[in-house]
Amino acid sequence: MRDHVQAHAPLEACGLLAGKNYRVEKVLLIENQAKSRVKFRMDPKGQLQAFNWIDSNGLSLVGIFHSHPAGPETVSATDIEEAAYDVIQIIWSRTKGNWIAHGFWIENKHVSEVKLEIINIEQP
Ligand SMILES: [Zn+2]
Repeated sequence: MRDHVQAHAPLEACGLLAGKNYRVEKVLLIENQAKSRVKFRMDPKGQLQAFNWIDSNGLSLVGIFHSHPAGPETVSATDIEEAAYDVIQIIWSRTKGNWIAHGFWIENKHVSEVKLEIINIEQP
C-alpha cells in the first residue's frame, strides 16, 4: 500500500483490502480516476475486477484505503459523506515525507478510529 500511495503522490491513490474477519489477506490496487490531489474516485472497471477477484477467491471486502498526500491524517468530510461500505477505511497521510496509516470506522456519519495491527503470516 505504501509503495502505491508513494508512487502516486502528490495525487491521491486508492485501493481495496480483501480478507476475512477484519484480517487483510490481499491488497488490490485501483487507479484513482479523479487524478486529483484532494479527492479520489476508484476506476469503475478496476473496482469491478477487484470485486470479482475477491468473490472468486472466497474472500470479503474488509477495507478501503486511500491517501491524503497533503493531509489530513483523518477522514475528510467528503470521505464521511461518501462512505458506502461497512468496512474499515484506511487513510495514508504524509508528514515530512513519512507515510502513516490510520484506520477508521464510519457508521451513520459517526467516525471512530480503529487500531491497525501488522501481522506477519508464516507460510507453512
Ligand atoms: Zn479522503
